[in-house]
Amino acid sequence: MQSKSWLKAGLFAALATAAFAATPARAQGALVMYCGVQEEWCRAMSGAFEKETGIKVAMTRKSAGEIYAQLKAESSNPRGDVWWGGTGDPHLQAAEEGLTQEYESPKNKELHPWALDQWKAAKQRSVGIYAGALGFGFNTDQIKAKGIPEPKCWADLLNARLKDDVQVADPNSSGTAYNLLATVIQLMGEDKGFEYLKALHKNISQYTKSGAAPAKAASLGETAVGIVFIHDAVVFAVQGDPIKPVAPCEGTGYEIGSMSIVKGARNLDNAKKFYDWALTPAAQALAAPAKSYQVPSNKASPVPAQSPKMDQMKLINYDFVKYGSSAERNRLLAKWDKEVKALPK
Ligand code: PLP
Repeated sequence: MQSKSWLKAGLFAALATAAFAATPARAQGALVMYCGVQEEWCRAMSGAFEKETGIKVAMTRKSAGEIYAQLKAESSNPRGDVWWGGTGDPHLQAAEEGLTQEYESPKNKELHPWALDQWKAAKQRSVGIYAGALGFGFNTDQIKAKGIPEPKCWADLLNARLKDDVQVADPNSSGTAYNLLATVIQLMGEDKGFEYLKALHKNISQYTKSGAAPAKAASLGETAVGIVFIHDAVVFAVQGDPIKPVAPCEGTGYEIGSMSIVKGARNLDNAKKFYDWALTPAAQALAAPAKSYQVPSNKASPVPAQSPKMDQMKLINYDFVKYGSSAERNRLLAKWDKEVKALPK
């Protein structure tokens, strides 16, 4: 009796294993999401989508340059389905290199022109989901203690009193930091831009992996200044930390945070479902409660009250096509590694 039930159990297990093995790799009901924004917003998006559709989401949060590198490494055997969030430049590079695929969402007609510009620049392989301007946040207590004027401009960050007291991410991993690299070149010209980054290097205590980390460090007083997207500094300012967000006086760059479907996605239908849903006002409204204050791309999505007022800033005419091109991004990153990061301090 006993042995029979063991036999039955064994048979059942064998059948179950066979059934599992026979399940096609393109399993229904799953979605692998690579997420490029802050963890809290990533979780809110994957959780809400899962709840609404029953599709099981496997989400990983990484910085934009890292997700691009992962897609490239996995290109012969893609594991991801959708890349949601992160600065537009690496999305454009991935599009150019055929790592992502064309898609025209029925929601496109509801989007701001800047979101569709990204879609056009990517030859339909990426679309804008939010926008945000680059700047920095400084710790008011630290600046007061140093007895220097509050920094208002990019030039102010070269003050020798800020030695080892500025943080920014590494542009190889971080979309934010690549946006800085491209911004100073567009503002100052390539030679002067690199001179600026070399001078800034003297004041950098560490190049972090993630773009938003310097905002947290500045809010905690671990660094006097963190160069970040302005909305990343606002997060800490609204919760009462001693950090002031700044839109630099010379002008600044901005990002079109983007979304792309991975070429060869195993769960393509679910990726499209997610893509369409992520462009709705209901999905975009999940940002602010998750402390993400970017400007959303659907015209009907409310702009969070805490969002930095981009229309009141001096924004450069960021050339997304040029700085998102594979050759230019690779060239600038290699030049930064060689001429800036390798410099002694
Ligand atoms: N944090 C926020 C709120 C962002 O909007 C973005 C870019 O889209 C990032 C971080 C970028 O992250 P990282 O610089 O780590 O790629």
